[in-house]
Amino acid sequence: MTSTISTQQVWQWITAYRDEIDRRVDELNKLDAAVGDGDFGASMQRGLDAVVADSTLSDQEFIGELLKKVGMTLVSAMGGTSGPLVGTFFLKMGISLGEITEADLESWARAVRAGVEGVMTLGQAKPGEKTMIDGMMPALEAMEAASEAPFHHALQRAADAAGVGAQATREMAATKGRASYVGGAGVGALDPGAVGASILFETMGRSTKD
Ligand code: ADP
Ligand code: MG
Repeated sequence: MTSTISTQQVWQWITAYRDEIDRRVDELNKLDAAVGDGDFGASMQRGLDAVVADSTLSDQEFIGELLKKVGMTLVSAMGGTSGPLVGTFFLKMGISLGEITEADLESWARAVRAGVEGVMTLGQAKPGEKTMIDGMMPALEAMEAASEAPFHHALQRAADAAGVGAQATREMAATKGRASYVGGAGVGALDPGAVGASILFETMGRSTKD
């Protein structure tokens, strides 16, 4: 059981995230079709395919550089509302981590906080508004609360919290994004961005298992 995450494990997380989005792309598109325009899965898939196809990313030395490049590639390849938001998450994480090849839980959680706060600043959404923040914020809080736990356990609790947070969006009314314009503001439907965030934390949780 390691107590840090290495640049190589961060890259494994990113590729696992791509693979899982690939596997669930139809589900994510359908969720977005119910509250928006049906492109969320395809948009995430396009962005992450561009990331994984970029051969300059897989051999990055520093975690911060890698995550900054992931973020910039997502912003330029994705478009839509979610492109700049998800891209900013990775960009802010990368800026926070900088030129290191191993991150411990404290610096990893600090970077995740910078990422979530970056998304909130850009999108002006608070928890409870039926957005990706409702997947991200519970994960961040669980990770920070698990600061005494082994790295992998803390990430596992974050992944579980993101899943619970995503499910909770079913009861929420949207006040941001396209879902705020549909009948009932999407109450009764899951938010695709929050489900996407739960996939992000679930794959992060698997990246340090050894
Ligand atoms: P669109 O097709 O409307 O451009 P996407 O399909 O790319 O948007 O992304 C939709 C997701 O973006 C939503 O499910 C929601 O989680 C997220 N979202 C929308 N607006 C915001 C916001 N202001 N802040 C955070 N997330 C948002
Ligand atoms: Mg959409």
